[in-house]
Amino acid sequence: MGLPSKRTPKNKTRTRNNPANPGKSLVLKSTNTCPKCGNIKLSHRACQFCGAYKAEKVTKASK
Ligand SMILES: [Zn+2]
Repeated sequence: MGLPSKRTPKNKTRTRNNPANPGKSLVLKSTNTCPKCGNIKLSHRACQFCGAYKAEKVTKASK
């Protein structure tokens, strides 16, 4: 595994991880609608409302 040759400046990592900076942020934008309840959910994640993933209930719904 390669190592970074130079340390990343603090302000560079701050802008990269800042959700208020939409162009450079790592905020997940890929969303789908849940096939069960129709709510917006993150793709490749179980629905946070009903706990379904690919129309199968995989987790308990957290309220
Ligand atoms: Zn759902």
